[in-house]
Amino acid sequence: MSPTIDTKTPAVHHDLPTPDPESPTRTRQPYKLSTLCVAVENPSMKDQYGSSSVPIYQSATFKGVGNEYDYSRSGNPTRSHLEHHIAKISSAARAFAVSSGMAALDVILRLLRPGDEIIAGDDLYGGTNRLLTFIRTHVGVTVHHVDTTDPNAVIPFIHPTKTAMVLLESPTNPLLKIADLALISKEVKERAPNAIVVVDNTMMSPYLQRPLEHGADIVYDSATKYLSGHHDLMAGMITCNRDDLAKQIAFTINSVGNALTPIDCFLLLRGVKTMAVRMDRQQATSQLVATYLHSLGFKVHYPGLPDHPGREIHQRISDGNGAVLSFETGDKELSEKIVGSTRLWGISVSFGCVNSLISMPCVMSHASIDPAIRAARGLPEDLIRLCVGIEDSSDLLDDLEHALVDAGAIALSAQQNKYVRVPPGHAALNKAVEQLAIGSSNSRGVEHEWFVSAPGKVILFGEHAVVHGVTAIAASVDLRCYGLTSPRNDGKLSAHFNDINDFQAEWDIESLPWGASAPLGHHERHPEDLDQQLIEAIHSGPLRELGPDKDQARNAALAFLYMYIKLTSAERPSVHFDVRATLPVGAGLGSSASFSTCAATALLLLSHRVTLPSIPSPISAEHLHLSHHGRHALEKHNAEEANHWAFIAEKILHGNPSGVDNSVAVFGGALTYNRPGFGKPSGMESIQGFGSLRFLLTNSKVPRDTKKLVAGVGLMKQEQPEVVGSILDSIENISAQAKRSLADSTEFGRENLLRDLSVMISENHKHLVSLGVSHPSLEVIREKTAAPPYNLSTKLTGAGGGGCAVTLIPDDFSDTSMKDLLSELTECGFDPYLTSVGGSGLGILSPYPEHRNTSAKDIHPGQVTPPETPDEANTTDPGDSIKASFETKSLSELTGWAQNLGKWLYV
Ligand code: PLP
Repeated sequence: MSPTIDTKTPAVHHDLPTPDPESPTRTRQPYKLSTLCVAVENPSMKDQYGSSSVPIYQSATFKGVGNEYDYSRSGNPTRSHLEHHIAKISSAARAFAVSSGMAALDVILRLLRPGDEIIAGDDLYGGTNRLLTFIRTHVGVTVHHVDTTDPNAVIPFIHPTKTAMVLLESPTNPLLKIADLALISKEVKERAPNAIVVVDNTMMSPYLQRPLEHGADIVYDSATKYLSGHHDLMAGMITCNRDDLAKQIAFTINSVGNALTPIDCFLLLRGVKTMAVRMDRQQATSQLVATYLHSLGFKVHYPGLPDHPGREIHQRISDGNGAVLSFETGDKELSEKIVGSTRLWGISVSFGCVNSLISMPCVMSHASIDPAIRAARGLPEDLIRLCVGIEDSSDLLDDLEHALVDAGAIALSAQQNKYVRVPPGHAALNKAVEQLAIGSSNSRGVEHEWFVSAPGKVILFGEHAVVHGVTAIAASVDLRCYGLTSPRNDGKLSAHFNDINDFQAEWDIESLPWGASAPLGHHERHPEDLDQQLIEAIHSGPLRELGPDKDQARNAALAFLYMYIKLTSAERPSVHFDVRATLPVGAGLGSSASFSTCAATALLLLSHRVTLPSIPSPISAEHLHLSHHGRHALEKHNAEEANHWAFIAEKILHGNPSGVDNSVAVFGGALTYNRPGFGKPSGMESIQGFGSLRFLLTNSKVPRDTKKLVAGVGLMKQEQPEVVGSILDSIENISAQAKRSLADSTEFGRENLLRDLSVMISENHKHLVSLGVSHPSLEVIREKTAAPPYNLSTKLTGAGGGGCAVTLIPDDFSDTSMKDLLSELTECGFDPYLTSVGGSGLGILSPYPEHRNTSAKDIHPGQVTPPETPDEANTTDPGDSIKASFETKSLSELTGWAQNLGKWLYV
């Protein structure tokens, strides 16, 4: 049993008795929080010996019957002291100590029942997402993830009776986004009086923010962080003011048995005593660090900076800005160098410790997986997170400055007599200019072959529903398009599109309609609209002889020539452009976007608008322990340029593309997509950090009319708005959950990811069937793959036009089963492709001699894409032309052969 605390009045002014009797003439002011933190006094639990520090009652049982304590699962004196103390500093009537932050959330979520709905942030701590998924799939609770930084985004999801809980975090980690806890609590209470507002207060601690004062019903902290402060224990604290909730929480903890152990209670109590001094020091230094980085021109995320979005709200609901901040350098490699160059800042996960920590969220959590996937976006790839400790601030700033200088992020300006920021990409660009000899092309003369490749895409979740505003998830599929430009040097330009009716053409460069288009400056962006005059001129000039039966080839050649004329008017290189694909064309797998990406990139390379990373010196490579994968990655601005031009090519090919396919082709990995016009944020957001997944992609070869299928769903929605609406809601939930599962997979394990995805694939397919967009062949594929011994989950992919299905293949799926399944599907007349999803995006075969293979030993497995092991020991003399082999390799050999040529540079 816990000691009695007044549960009626919320303890906004803390009720610790003053040490001296009240003076009749001069009243005492309430103690400040820093005083309360250190004064661990519980008037109803006086120690028999007057011990200064609360003893550890390391006892499971207590003698006697009917006493205050009998069994430590139900109550323990050391724990009671801790709980009383935390309640006091949290403006709470009751507090409960459990074994971790996640255990705290687990106890809270057990307040829910099947059918309840939760509204939760969309940028929550990953562990929180994991647990929410669990209760969604196992308890039948609906979880709506919304952007809680915008209270208006929350309101539409509040249901007067169904909404049982609203779960908030502010600020978020690591982008320090702010949610208005007070306003959201008020809105929730007005609309759903029985809903409980829960706040994860870990980033702030009760010293800096006490959400119970702003209308929250329950607050929890990972006490592993600031409350304990030393990274020497795991603990979670739950606080609340409502007696009914306290009773249920106490019941769960007693039933489950996850209360904090006496020794950890003792350590946590000791930690809390110094929390105020630690945090004062930590946040004062954080302010200095944030201001310093901001003054250098870095993009800094810290609520203590005047331009931080949500700063005004944060100031209203909190007493400080905390000790976590993050900043962007504009260049991932540069960030890696900075992080690798610090000495005092320890490279570590977590926060809240007395020691200062530095991390690169993208690189650290993803270092062990496919390097190309790490480079996917979402959180800025170059983001550096700083968790400031209590070291001397000048030492911390000095160490950071040294690291910035060592990494080349800042340099001493003689003119200004101070360190100034080196523009991002500057050093690499200089080096690239030096090395232009490698790809040099003067007017007409090209000495070098450029070999590029880009993946296709599959829609993993949300097809059809995306048309109605639901989030779709698209991922790269490792069936690729390859493009090769080889020098001709005879004043001619030629192209061979092997997979588009074997289209071949040759043009006199001077005869191309150069006059129809104003040349584009080296740094000039292509305007939004296509140059119709140039399109007309190409149709009536170089393409005039292509008949109407050659529509596909005509469009592809148009896109190629359009970009050639726009991009290379200064160089006008004489080259042959050869394209091949291991990707079926016209199966709804993004073949046109991968073609567009290859053509755009080859032309950008020829016009020197895309530059390659320089080769780092062995010294810096050794010094940088963080990541050895990213060093040869294509820089972001190059990738963005390629994406921009691939989109232009897509516009030429499709008229009004969404931009999803080319983004996947360039950046690889996976992304979410929302169409504009549905009153919520639209656009793309990358999902990063999951290792590529094996999928079986089966082409049913049943051609279908995508437009008709889409229209059919539209009609059904008009006729049965409620039914279709609820299907769309369910699909939205699946997409949101899939996004979180993919993003959190590094932390929560691949096994969990595969299990979650498998459930979601089956669920999503069922919904697509209800929308009437499946067909018998797809159902045969689904049934065959679901049957024992395979037991696999399959769904149709794309709007249906391509007639393809995707089947998730677990890592432990045996080769024999795979072989059997492949032959069963082939026997039925389908084309199955075993492929991987979520792998690398755009790749360029490195032209550096040291990256070209002379033997198989130079293969870098981490950089391998596509994933298959090369099936033959091709050795290529670096002096050899790639062209001859490229044209003659069989489709099944192409992937392994390309991969074996040398190192591929990925985004
Ligand atoms: N909430 C937040 C914001 C966190 O950062 C963490 C841990 O990193 C947790 C909850 C989970 O806490 P614990 O690791 O103590 O279970």
